[in-house]
Order: sequence, then structure tokens, then C-alpha cells
Amino acid sequence: MAYKKPESMDECVYFSNRDVGAGSAMVWVFKQECPKCHKALMGKPVDAKTGRAKIRAKEYVCPGCSYSVEKEEYEEGLTAYCEYTCPECKEHGEAETPYKRKSIDGVKTLRFNCQSCSANIDITKKMKEKKKKK
Ligand SMILES: [Zn+2]
Ligand SMILES: [Zn+2]
Repeated sequence: MAYKKPESMDECVYFSNRDVGAGSAMVWVFKQECPKCHKALMGKPVDAKTGRAKIRAKEYVCPGCSYSVEKEEYEEGLTAYCEYTCPECKEHGEAETPYKRKSIDGVKTLRFNCQSCSANIDITKKMKEKKKKK
């Protein structure tokens, strides 16, 4: 059973495609449908001037009815999906986990496990994402 994959970044809260040790992983988290109007996907509020999403906003907003949910509350209800090539056994597979980063060795990590050999497939936050100009 294959997971549904995003067709565009607009559908995702998070998307990453990267090498994990000797393997690789594609990870994505779908935006959630608005629980009020069910007509649109909840996303970060959009800046009226630039038309771009405000990445650092603390809430998610429905573009249809303006219903908003706090960032943490919203993200905790989401599921992260992963399509991987295992760094240990080299099998291809799929895994899912709640979209909640755990602190592993002091680094915020989304941990998936290989369905074949149970090896950890860790998706850490990229350090360089922290240093961005204002
Ligand atoms: Zn709505
Ligand atoms: Zn494996």
C-alpha cells in the first residue's frame, strides 16, 4: 500500500528529500483540512503585501473561513510520511510517525523506523535553517 504523495508544496506543512547515512528519505506532512468549513487546507497566514506565507507565524489559518488554530496544536495532530531507502539494509519502504519532533542527542528529530530491519531513520532539522537573514 503506497502512501499518497503530495503533488505540490502547497499541500504540505513540511517536505524534505535528503540522504540519511548510506540511504535516503523523502518526508512529507500534509496540511490538514479546515475542521470548520472542510473546504480548504489550513496553512500559515499569508502576508497581504507579498502574497507569501508567513513562515514564522504562530498559528495556522483557513484561507476559506479564517478559522485559526495554534501552531503546536495543529502540528501535533498531523502525520509525517516517509518513503525511504534504509541506511542499514538498503530496502525501500514506507513509514509514518506523528509529526512531533523528539529531542535525540540534543537535536530535534523526526524518527522513523525501517519496516524491514527496524533501523532508525532520523530526520533532523537542518542546522543551516536556523541562520537566515531577517
Ligand atoms: Zn475553513
Ligand atoms: Zn532496514
